[in-house]
Amino acid sequence: MELKYDRKNVYKQADGNTLKEIYDFGEGYKEFLNNSKTERDASHTAEQLAKEQGFTPFSFSEKLKPGDKRYYINRHKNIFLIKVGTEDVAKDGVRIMVAHVDSPRLDLKPNPMFEANGLCYFKTHYYGGIKKYQWPTIPLALHGVVMLRGGGRKEICIGEDENDPIFYITDILPHLGRQQNEKTVGKAVSAESLNAVVGGLPTVDGDEKEAVKDYVLNLLNKKYGLTESDLQCSELCFVPAGKARDVGFDRALISAYGHDDKVCAYPEMRAVFDTDGKHTVMAVFADKEEIGSVGNTGMQSRVILDVIDTIAHSFGANPIEVRHNSKCISADVTAAYDPAYDEVFEKRNVCYINCGASVNKYTGAGGKSNTNDASAEYLGYLRDIFEDNGVIWQIGELGAIDAGGGGTVAMYIANLGIDTIDVGVPVLSMHAPYEVISKADIYSLYKACLAFCK
Ligand code: MN
Ligand code: MN
Repeated sequence: MELKYDRKNVYKQADGNTLKEIYDFGEGYKEFLNNSKTERDASHTAEQLAKEQGFTPFSFSEKLKPGDKRYYINRHKNIFLIKVGTEDVAKDGVRIMVAHVDSPRLDLKPNPMFEANGLCYFKTHYYGGIKKYQWPTIPLALHGVVMLRGGGRKEICIGEDENDPIFYITDILPHLGRQQNEKTVGKAVSAESLNAVVGGLPTVDGDEKEAVKDYVLNLLNKKYGLTESDLQCSELCFVPAGKARDVGFDRALISAYGHDDKVCAYPEMRAVFDTDGKHTVMAVFADKEEIGSVGNTGMQSRVILDVIDTIAHSFGANPIEVRHNSKCISADVTAAYDPAYDEVFEKRNVCYINCGASVNKYTGAGGKSNTNDASAEYLGYLRDIFEDNGVIWQIGELGAIDAGGGGTVAMYIANLGIDTIDVGVPVLSMHAPYEVISKADIYSLYKACLAFCK
């Protein structure tokens, strides 16, 4: 028995076979991520992968039986993957894992289009917690859906193919940046200046005043059949364009947009695919976490209850009993220690890159406000499962007390009477257009989810 606790480095512990598994898992993740930039993209990617695994659509009126594999897509933006086990669901409950698949980005405003100085722009409204100065001068792609008058529906994805154009938000040149340099970083770039350039070619015979906007509208009408007023019935957003890339000479890390929280969604989904079918398990891809888990696709909605109730009723079980015997991993990221910003962390209680799945007993801010604070009993239960299955994990807090704070979906699941704790992956530069994670850590989270499901 070891008396002292020492944090383990996953790469240091890995033999040749494990190292290959870690790197292979990273390849699968990058492919998933490249097709999953928004919650809509991620839900549909998961649907495709689930179908390949033999999952079929779920219905609230069906009677499930052991061995059934179902997926439920909630309004294109939230998916539930359900695998029914052989254990008595009343006594055994459901093993639930929830990750969110929305990430900070720039949504279009309801009336986004304007022309100025011979260029056409789309106005944006940022979604989630961003540092506004990080979004100008990077290549942006446009993702989402537009409803046409009369029920037509056009999905849009422009800027991801290398032959596609991208979109671009300008910044002041440093030569004239004296005033901007004197502002605090929070104010150096204003929300209302985050307008993306979407065109520059004027129509010859159009409205003199808005010749460029006319030309763009003509193009959009030809390609998608849409008009300016259709943009009022759309969900379109700008996200960083481009694919996930390996980082470093040794390719130990991955840089990409939206690791928070697809880096947890992918392993929890894979764990559901790969588990043996004893326990009833469920992976949830949630929407709206970045703005408070609101709305009918966020985790504060009753939809998760409806799904659990349907499972319970299938076996004539009391849904209350099923819930109270259920367990949940709120799979979300945490901050990785960054020596460049040492002052916001408390070194003994932060998670480190390459040191395995991260556990947060609580998140929140200040004196633990606005968080789930998991019980010692539940944490002890999980620790035994992780260690019995060789999962490398670490425990910490988001950062130094009073440096700031953050939350996850954990408290909303716990509100349902379900034991819940945050388990995830440490991230460098969280919420930046390109974040960084370790292949060793996402692999460790996969092992943790699989151990939880088995
Ligand atoms: Mn998150
Ligand atoms: Mn986040």
